[in-house]
Amino acid sequence: PLVLGIETSCDETGVGIVRGHTLLADAIASSVDTHARFGGVVPEIASRAHLEAMVPTIQRALKEAGIAASDLDGVAVTAGPGLAGALLVGVSAAKAYAYALGKPLYGVNHLASHICVDQLEHGALPEPTMALLVSGGHSSLLLAPDITSDVRPLGSTIDDAAGEAFDKVARVLHLGFPGGPVIDRYAKEGDPAAIAFPRGLTGPRDAPYDFSFSGLKTAVARWIEARRKAGEEVPVADVSASFQEAVTDVLTRKAIRACKDEGVDHLMIGGGVAANSRLRAMAEERCAAAGITLRVPRPKLCTDNGAMVAALGTEMVARNRAPSDWDLPADSSLPVTEPHVPGEAHGPHS
Ligand code: ATP
Ligand code: MG
Ligand code: FE
Repeated sequence: PLVLGIETSCDETGVGIVRGHTLLADAIASSVDTHARFGGVVPEIASRAHLEAMVPTIQRALKEAGIAASDLDGVAVTAGPGLAGALLVGVSAAKAYAYALGKPLYGVNHLASHICVDQLEHGALPEPTMALLVSGGHSSLLLAPDITSDVRPLGSTIDDAAGEAFDKVARVLHLGFPGGPVIDRYAKEGDPAAIAFPRGLTGPRDAPYDFSFSGLKTAVARWIEARRKAGEEVPVADVSASFQEAVTDVLTRKAIRACKDEGVDHLMIGGGVAANSRLRAMAEERCAAAGITLRVPRPKLCTDNGAMVAALGTEMVARNRAPSDWDLPADSSLPVTEPHVPGEAHGPHS
């Protein structure tokens, strides 16, 4: 199937076009620079930026793919979770576009899209798929027997998301926003063993698949604070490397344990934090040692984009999932257990 996907859940206006597992176009416009001076995404600014970027980005994607809109089998859009106003721009555009073209509309889940995008990199997802989803707003271990209809959370963060921890630590270090890519860069010059930061929820009696990054973030902030109070220089590279090591250590350890416990022989890692170079390297090493096949998309497909929405959209079409209704709502807290929002007129999905 040939599907166009629209993503506007945060600050990226993404339009992707996918045929089956083949990526034909991945056009993106970001308002991240506008938000940077506020130290985080400002919802109102994001919505307005989506509105301005939407039509040009769709046109760019169509041109890049070299297809006619009339050839599409459907239009997919992120229905949630995300910023309500931002989602609404994408959902409205997708409805208008699909309706005008006479094509079915598929409201899909942003988190399931972060996983399904790997089909563009490594082909069909195994069933079930074990996925470590690590992004700006979420950190979970998910077992998905079918990415279009059945996604089961094994555990998730009880406080901050992994990406949120990167962003907060970067803020304390005065490195700007978003923090992940900058810390990744600084960490390359630092010693990951320089400072022993805590590994949250790794005790024998802790929930095996849950995460906690708020204590780590506080420990890093305190450590930096003590240095500054003493009038000493903060070793940014060592702090970055040691913090990053603590995050990736816990993520990979728990993910591999989940694979072993569930008898799954592969691990998929998705979401913005999956772009992290240390996480990728450590996962590669530890998976190899455990006999687990690792699937991580290229960094550009890990952070928000339209291709991931199109990837899940093609899967919805391929599996005959019910399209969404024309009154499809934007749902800022759409649960990960709902990979798509089927229309009522079409009956419950299987
Ligand atoms: P969600 O997917 O939970 O709705 P989101 O869409 O805002 O959140 P993503 O775009 O998936 O998040 O990921 C953004 C997050 O990824 C940010 O927190 C950012 O700091 C982090 N990130 C991006 N690149 C890297 C990197 N190289 N290392 C670590 N973190 C990174
Ligand atoms: Mg972003
Ligand atoms: Fe995301």
